[in-house]
Amino acid sequence: MDVFSEISGHEQVVFCNDPHTGLKAIIAIHNTTLGPALGGCRMRPYATVNEALNDVLRLSKGMTYKCAAADVDFGGGKSVIIGDPLGEKSPELFRAFGQFVESLKGRFYTGTDMGTTPEDFVHASKETQCIVGIPEEYGGSGDSSIPTALGVIYGIKATNKAVWGDDALQGRTYAIQGLGKVGFKVAERLLEEGADLFVSDINEAACELLVQKAKDLPGSVKSVRGEDIYGVSADVFVPCALGGIINDWTIEELKVKAIAGSANNQLEREEHGQDLWRRGILYAPDYIVNAGGLIQVADELYEPNKQRVLTKTKAIYTSLLEVYKHSEDRGICTAEAADLFCEQRIEARKHRSSFFTADRKPKWNIKR
Ligand code: NAD
Repeated sequence: MDVFSEISGHEQVVFCNDPHTGLKAIIAIHNTTLGPALGGCRMRPYATVNEALNDVLRLSKGMTYKCAAADVDFGGGKSVIIGDPLGEKSPELFRAFGQFVESLKGRFYTGTDMGTTPEDFVHASKETQCIVGIPEEYGGSGDSSIPTALGVIYGIKATNKAVWGDDALQGRTYAIQGLGKVGFKVAERLLEEGADLFVSDINEAACELLVQKAKDLPGSVKSVRGEDIYGVSADVFVPCALGGIINDWTIEELKVKAIAGSANNQLEREEHGQDLWRRGILYAPDYIVNAGGLIQVADELYEPNKQRVLTKTKAIYTSLLEVYKHSEDRGICTAEAADLFCEQRIEARKHRSSFFTADRKPKWNIKR
């Protein structure tokens, strides 16, 4: 295997092996032009090391773009632990992981992602201060789905403005896929505003709970089964569950004018962004819309300030309108316009000196 060509776009990839605790992890640092790398830690029973490596390389690159778009002065990184989150976790495993993170001396900050919880990182935080998103009682900033959901609402408002000329939430119909931590909060807010919803979740109890809540709110909600959500007659599709849901099949089904939701990696392939654009469906790039949680954990590393998180999350509205304008001016799809916007932001700062001072302390006012 030609390792260096596999990781050619990345600055550093660290394989972490601790036989004592059974820890097998990979940390990938994609780009630190904008600041130390920041990205969550995913735990999955990957079938092969190659599968884990591909995942961490793809995810860490995505974080570079997400940080650039949210303008948080952090770079892109991510980590994966190879193992079953249901049976292979232990406090010692996360402490061992924390020691590997600490060995990078502030080049990489991490926290929860799929398969890991804030409590897991309480253990890791005993070995390193480069941990974000632990519970508030341990000094973290708490539930990141609250700012993520708020960001989705501002993303929808900007998208409505671009499509219909006014950013009101009411008077439109939304198809929400997934009523979990983010989707449920988004649905509640839309109902409060008097919007009409179609919702689907494989967890029927979540749909029932929303239907109950809607009885006291001005909006309306209709629960639909599984894949029927793609074909409903709605104005905006709001994916808040899985990635890859914009694909050859669903594009044919969709009747909406716009897509704006929290799910990561919504486009199955790059060309699906162009396909939506050609069909006149406005796509709000996922990593811009769902950046509220990232904004909160990045903020935690300075002097945590809820007002600042709120202001930066609301700015998702203007970032999106800028991307839509770039897309229109250049005649390119919105996904491509968002990538270009981030690449230009990174390029503009490339010529600054490294973020480390001579004594290896981060230059910025990061508290931990
Ligand atoms: P969650 O696990 O709390 O909720 C996901 C929901 O989707 C669950 O209720 C689940 O039952 C439902 N679901 C799963 N498969 C489905 C299907 N086929 N059809 C309909 N519903 C289905 O996750 P979350 O934190 O709400 O995140 C939702 C999405 O947003 C994920 O893609 C996540 O990566 C992304 N995201 C979340 C955050 C955050 O702060 N939580 C930040 C950025 C991005």
